[in-house]
Amino acid sequence: AKERGRSGVRFFNQQMQADVSARAQLAAGLRQALLQQQFVLHFQPQIEHSAGVVGAEVLIRWQHPQRGLLAPGEFIAVAESSGQILAIGNWVLQQSCYQLAEWARQLHSAHWYLAVNISARQLHSASFVQDVRKAISDSGATPTRLVLEITESQLLQDIDSVIDKMLQLTRLGVRFSLDDFGTGYSSLSYLKRLPLAQLKIDRSFVRDVLTDPNDEVIIKTMLALGQSLELSVIAEGVETQAQHQKLLQLGCQQFQGYHFGKPAPLTDFEAAH
Ligand code: C2E
Ligand code: CA
Ligand code: CA
Ligand code: CA
Repeated sequence: AKERGRSGVRFFNQQMQADVSARAQLAAGLRQALLQQQFVLHFQPQIEHSAGVVGAEVLIRWQHPQRGLLAPGEFIAVAESSGQILAIGNWVLQQSCYQLAEWARQLHSAHWYLAVNISARQLHSASFVQDVRKAISDSGATPTRLVLEITESQLLQDIDSVIDKMLQLTRLGVRFSLDDFGTGYSSLSYLKRLPLAQLKIDRSFVRDVLTDPNDEVIIKTMLALGQSLELSVIAEGVETQAQHQKLLQLGCQQFQGYHFGKPAPLTDFEAAH
């Protein structure tokens, strides 16, 4: 038993070392990625029932020189823990604002907005408000076309300072959306204090809305909450026509998901919408 225990420990150590060096390698790769412009943005349409495509969520991808196109699940956590998410997040903000300014010059896309994911580190960074302002002013983007997606877990610490930052940006016209709504711990009293424009129903509730009565009730409650707090409510992860119909019937008017369009490179997104 002793021997097994020992080799178990050794195996565990080897495994940990392998994990640590894989993370270190990834972090080194991420530094190169920014310098060598290996990040790309994909765009996924957001739909309003009465208006069609009204904008897109910006989703980052990493065109890795050896491993091909990587989804954020493969590198965002390491970028968070190494702090590189600050530089990456700023790049995403700047690119998105330049895209908005570009779209504003074209009749077809002038009304589109972009929803950008903001990481906890960005939101809590002392330069966050300044970074967003700079992205807007450098690009000439219209602030009201920019939506920033934050999550409930980011609101657990420093809530007063976060609210203050949100208010400063809200005054410019920037809007905030609460992403993955329902999966965190947001208390209703927070919700009232936060200058939010939108709640984004997490796709875990949408997935089973046709078969799980609990999810239907939860979605109904979120829609009612949105109405009483005067927030728009968007459902994410809508994959089928049946889910779309059900959500419409429950009173949801804004949608995002594979049923309407998968995240795609800019040229594909523009060609499709
Ligand atoms: P998220 O913000 O919840 O983004 C939605 C995710 O769901 C995206 O995954 C999207 O591709 C996927 N999705 C969209 N529609 C459907 C659908 O109908 N069905 C299913 N099954 N999935 C759908 P993706 O692109 O892999 O991004 C994963 C997460 O990575 C995002 O989750 C977001 O938290 C993070 N992320 C993406 N881009 C950025 C970024 O620029 N900055 C930061 N900080 N995080 C980002
Ligand atoms: Ca999001
Ligand atoms: Ca989400
Ligand atoms: Ca989600």
